[in-house]
Amino acid sequence: MSDKKPVCTCIQDPYADLPPELRPKPVQKIGGLRKVTCPGCGLVYWTNRPTDLCVNCEKKGVKIENAGG
Ligand SMILES: [Zn+2]
Repeated sequence: MSDKKPVCTCIQDPYADLPPELRPKPVQKIGGLRKVTCPGCGLVYWTNRPTDLCVNCEKKGVKIENAGG
């Protein structure tokens, strides 16, 4: 005698066994932009430039000081 139960595989969440904090989150990215905080004025903005300095501070000539120079 075999007692096989039909197993529904239509609903399969690969992360069902994981706690919420271990599940992969959708990454907030807008077209290659990254969210940065300007070290000069503290402005939080999105940029695709390698520097965190915003254009306003760049115009003012603000330089990012390196700690422990
Ligand atoms: Zn700035």
